Amino acid sequence: AKRGGRDRFAVFDPAMYTDLTREAQQRADLERALEDDQFVLYFQPIVDLTTRRLVGVEALVRWRHPVEGLVGPDTFIPIAEATGLIVPLGRWIIRQAVRQLAQWHRDNPDTGHLRMSINVSGRQFQGSGLVEEVTSVLAETGVDPKAIVLEITESMLMQDVDATALMLQALRDLGVRVAVDDFGTGYSSLSYLKRFPVDILKVDRSFVGGHNAGDTTLADAVLGLGRALQLQTVAEGIETDTQWSTMRDLGYDYGQGYLFARPAAAVQIDQLMADPTKA
Ligand code: C2E
Ligand code: CA
Ligand code: CA
Ligand code: CA
Repeated sequence: AKRGGRDRFAVFDPAMYTDLTREAQQRADLERALEDDQFVLYFQPIVDLTTRRLVGVEALVRWRHPVEGLVGPDTFIPIAEATGLIVPLGRWIIRQAVRQLAQWHRDNPDTGHLRMSINVSGRQFQGSGLVEEVTSVLAETGVDPKAIVLEITESMLMQDVDATALMLQALRDLGVRVAVDDFGTGYSSLSYLKRFPVDILKVDRSFVGGHNAGDTTLADAVLGLGRALQLQTVAEGIETDTQWSTMRDLGYDYGQGYLFARPAAAVQIDQLMADPTKA
């Protein structure tokens, strides 16, 4: 075959064609799901590890698929990222989560301290719309910016250090908090982390496992890092009493996991609000 110039598309790669149509199809499916209101936010309680009191919730998106049933984010978030649909979906997630928090604050006057954690994907974080989006929904709802926690993964921090630092500063100026999610999986160092204005460290579930003694050593090391930087610390994936007492005794501030509560629809969280000690 001739090469270069106008003949560049002469070599037809059927595999590539299939990939492209599949991606277009997936994007179309997600787009329709967004139009048809098939996405729904679940909320998982975050508790004070000493008192077990509810301090906040993390919004976790699900897809109520008309045929497949409830589909988890690990299936469609990567597709939404790859196809760019994460931008409108992410916008919807932020709006929905902040509006829900506003409603809880309104309906339960003693939950003013309650926080909403929202996951932000890499593409959302790199894009320019995030700060505007958060600004606009805060203005719309009147929610205290301090009650909003944006969760970004440790690996996202490492993408482009200067751009990341600028974005984090812009978010700090807005008054929202930032949590580093899945911490411990991305190998960032103390000196590295020190450069970023973040508020909370969420240690990855794999450090909470407690299947062998080494797990505690690592969880302890992450806690030391958090303390050195004066960050709040959250242990996620707590499933057993032993994991709870271990993380609590190490000194973690907050915890999240099936032991306390599974992610649930807003109506179920409503019931917790009535008695926040029953998480
Ligand atoms: P993540 O941010 O690390 O969220 C925690 C995941 O751990 C959730 O899975 C939660 O249901 C699960 N989990 C909570 N407690 C336990 C426990 O005790 N044991 C175990 N084994 N798992 C527990 P989920 O909801 O399937 O979400 C998976 C991931 O999808 C999230 O991980 C996050 O990275 C992403 N994701 C979820 N919702 C959103 C969203 O609204 N936007 C974006 N960009 N990503 C999201
Ligand atoms: Ca998260
Ligand atoms: Ca996590
Ligand atoms: Ca994760």
